[in-house]
Amino acid sequence: MLKIRAHKITETTAGFCDIIDITAQVREHLAHETIQHGLTTLFVSGSTAALTTIEHEPGLTQDLKELVEKLVPSDRRYHHDDRWGDDNGFSHLRASLFGPSLTIPIESGELCLGTWQQIVLLDFDNRPRTREITVQFMGESE
Ligand code: ZN
Repeated sequence: MLKIRAHKITETTAGFCDIIDITAQVREHLAHETIQHGLTTLFVSGSTAALTTIEHEPGLTQDLKELVEKLVPSDRRYHHDDRWGDDNGFSHLRASLFGPSLTIPIESGELCLGTWQQIVLLDFDNRPRTREITVQFMGESE
């Protein structure tokens, strides 16, 4: 029988390209379900945050922060800043680049993640935020 189950994960962030590992929380929600085969969809609400996967270790998270600063510099002015005055044009652009959602297959009741592949929330805003991530599991019990 097809099942669809929804959960929420709430994270308080520091903004400014904060990178938060949410893998354990997603796994914990999945552990409470009977779904064996299907899909996990994760979606972060808000236009200055994103989701991706990475090996979550300090060297690589620093590398990602430096890459993002190079791709979308925080020290230049964007059209959004002129229109809204919230000075976070760079935050929106970075979030659009990575995207707000992830899909991860479920096989035998487990997320199909690599050993060194963690699910991370990226908060690009220019201030601390509280973020809500919707986690949906869809699949068959047996
Ligand atoms: Zn804005």
